[in-house]
This record gives sequence, C-alpha cells and structure tokens, in this order.
Amino acid sequence: MENYRTKRILVTGGAGFLGSHLCDRLLAGGHEVVCVDNFFTGSKQNVVHLRDEPRFEVIRHDVTFPLYLEVDEIMNLACPASPIHYQTDPVQTTKTSVHGAINVLGLAKRLGCKIFQASTSEVYGDPQVHPQTEDYWGHVNPVGIRSCYDEGKRCAETLFFDYHRQVGLRIKVARIFNTYGPRMHPNDGRVVSNFIVQALRGDPLTIYGDGEQTRSFCYVDDLIEGFVRLMETPDSVTGPINLGNPGEFTVGELARRVLDLTGSKSKVRHLPLPQDDPVRRQPDITLARKTLDWEPRTPLSEGLPRTIEYFDAFLRRHGRPARNSER
Ligand code: NAD
Ligand code: UDP
Ligand code: UDP
Repeated sequence: MENYRTKRILVTGGAGFLGSHLCDRLLAGGHEVVCVDNFFTGSKQNVVHLRDEPRFEVIRHDVTFPLYLEVDEIMNLACPASPIHYQTDPVQTTKTSVHGAINVLGLAKRLGCKIFQASTSEVYGDPQVHPQTEDYWGHVNPVGIRSCYDEGKRCAETLFFDYHRQVGLRIKVARIFNTYGPRMHPNDGRVVSNFIVQALRGDPLTIYGDGEQTRSFCYVDDLIEGFVRLMETPDSVTGPINLGNPGEFTVGELARRVLDLTGSKSKVRHLPLPQDDPVRRQPDITLARKTLDWEPRTPLSEGLPRTIEYFDAFLRRHGRPARNSER
C-alpha cells in the first residue's frame, strides 16, 4: 500500500493527457508535484484546476535540454504519443525520447532517486506474437514513419536498463498500451478521440483500412493506478511490465459502440490504412497481475460514456476541436 512519506515528484509531460491525470493522483496522495512540460501536445488547460494548489508547480522546459531540480522521484512521460503529433517533427520525437531519457536519468543519478519511464506497446511494433508478453523482442521497422517513436522508446528503454546495470539506478519501466479518457487531445488523431468527436459533430467516422485491425483500450484511471502500484514495488522490480486492458476490439467494433453510445447518425468512411499500422495488439498482463496485483476495472461500456461526456462538454465550450495553439 501507499508509503505515506510525502515526496516531491517530478512528472515530465505533466500537462499532457496521462501526465495531468498522474499529477492529480499524486497530489491526492499528499505528494508535491513538479510538472515539467514544453506544451508541444499538452495544454495548460489540463492542469488549470491545480493552479491554486500550493503543492503543485509547472515549469516550461524541453527535456531534450538538461534540467537541474531537487526531487525525490521522477516519472518521465514527456513525449508526443499520437502518430499525427510524433510524425510532425520526427527528429524532435527521437530527441525527446533519447536525449530526454539521458537528461532525466542523469538527474536521477545525481539525486540517487527512483525513476519511472512511460514506455509503450509500440516497442513490439507490428507484433508476430499475440498477445504480447514482456519477453517478446518485437517486430519494428527501423526506417518507417513510426520509427522515430518506436525506436526512440526502445532506445530509452535501453538507456534505463544500462543506467540500472551501470550505476545501480532504481528504474521502473511500464509498457503502456492504448489508453483513453477525458483530456485526450481532440485533434491528435487517435482513434477513440477521433471517433467520439466525429460522432458528436455528425461527421463521418473515419475507419482506416477495413477496420478489422485490433486494439485493446484501457481507461486512464486504471492505468494511473498501475503506475502508482509499480512505483511502490521493491527495487528488484524494474519492469518492463505491460500495463493495458486485455479486452481486444476491432476498430470497426469501436466505431459501432461510439455510434450506439452517442446516438449519432454519423456514417462511416473508409480511408487508407497508414504505413506500418499494427494489425493486432493486445497486452498479456500476467506479470502485472502477479507483481502489482493489478488489472483494469473499467470496461469500455463505462469508460467510453465518461470520455464522451468530456468531449461533449469540450465541444460545447469550443464549438469545434481547438488547434493546439488555441488551447
Ligand atoms: P500527450 O501528448 O498528451 O502528453 C505528452 C506530454 O509531453 C505533453 O504534455 C507534451 O507537451 C509533453 N512533451 C512532449 N515533448 C516534450 C519535451 N521535449 N519536453 C517536455 N515536454 C514534452 O500524450 P500522453 O498520451 O499523455 O502520453 C504520455 C506518455 O505516455 C508518452 O511518453 C507516451 O509515449 C506514453 N504512452 C501513452 C499511450 C497512450 O495511449 N496514451 C500509450 C503508450 C505510451
Ligand atoms: N543532467 C541533468 N541534470 C542533472 C544531472 C545531469 O540534466 O541534475 C544531464 C547532464 O546534462 C548529462 C546527462 O544528464 O548530459 C547525463 O548525465 P550523466 O551524469 O549520466 O552523464 P555525464 O554528465 O557524465 O555525461
Ligand atoms: N484509426 C482509425 N481511424 C481513425 C484513427 C485511427 O481507423 O480516425 C485506426 C488506426 O489506423 C489504428 C487504430 O485505429 O489501427 C488505433 O490508432 P491510434 O492512432 O489511436 O493508436 P495506435 O495506432 O498508435 O495504436
């Protein structure tokens, strides 16, 4: 259970979708939170409700540059996560994962503190093993349009394990599978946010390819609970550990559910499948169940309505999805 020494915790990428929920959760646990973000895909709106919280501070900083702070723990989430955003400036994406990891690892080394890495199911690429277990090395194209993200995250994992072996750093590496919920960026092109926004606006739902590709969608609160439990494990637990919801759905099925839940009359439009789009993805969470006594509790039938409610309120406020620069 929670170790109730309160700590000062650095959350990089803390103004993003997952990062802002993590800040909320850590503050609710009594900790101080230092949020570092360059606001590339994150937004001040995601953390504005914390502005009067004395245990919370925000620093605008790009993690590809060194940072000198005094904290007790580090949780490294900084990195654009959706294909549209990480492909906008792919060189910066690799730098964020690799130089960013080097800087936060250097910081953790100087401070002697525990450090968490938000890795990804993308390290498995277009997997040939199904469902994916942590010992699967993956099937990744090193020179494709997703490589900046996939290979950047793989290299970050390498750095985490080398700092662990070389200087004894205490590391916690989570491989996160597709996660959704309130505060997803409405324009980031991810399937859940796209379908909900399209359905609410009466626009056609854009299914890439035949819609038979699968993903497994985890509700954000479940994922954050997994992060917290992982941080509480003994130092011998380093990961990598899969965190995600094993419920597997085709993209076509997700579209049908969104249409049902919103009552939208939107049609479906098929568009070409992007390059290197993984055909199937589903986490094997045996390790997380055993090590963290954790599994997701929120089915799509509960998580989707909460997310729809968020986007409905968002669209009523903004009229249309705001571009990043407008948020
Ligand atoms: P997000 O884009 O909402 O959040 C990323 C945050 O990092 C943003 O606030 C962004 O402004 C910030 N950032 C980007 N580059 C930065 C830099 N160079 N310096 C400082 N800050 C920077 O995405 P998210 O979904 O919240 O993802 C958070 C982390 O979790 C990412 O590392 C992502 O790779 C990982 N992840 C997410 C998912 C998912 O389904 N959401 C799945 C796998 C892994
Ligand atoms: N670093 C940082 N903050 C610190 C300590 C280090 O940003 O508090 C950066 C530093 O700029 C360096 C990187 O982390 O580039 C890696 O640090 P490390 O000590 O591992 O390597 P070295 O400084 O020997 O290159
Ligand atoms: N997708 C889709 N329509 C969209 C957005 C995405 O059919 O409007 C598909 C996409 O091709 C992929 C799946 O949904 O097969 C998940 O895409 P997302 O970008 O959310 O995540 P990732 O591909 O990184 O898992």
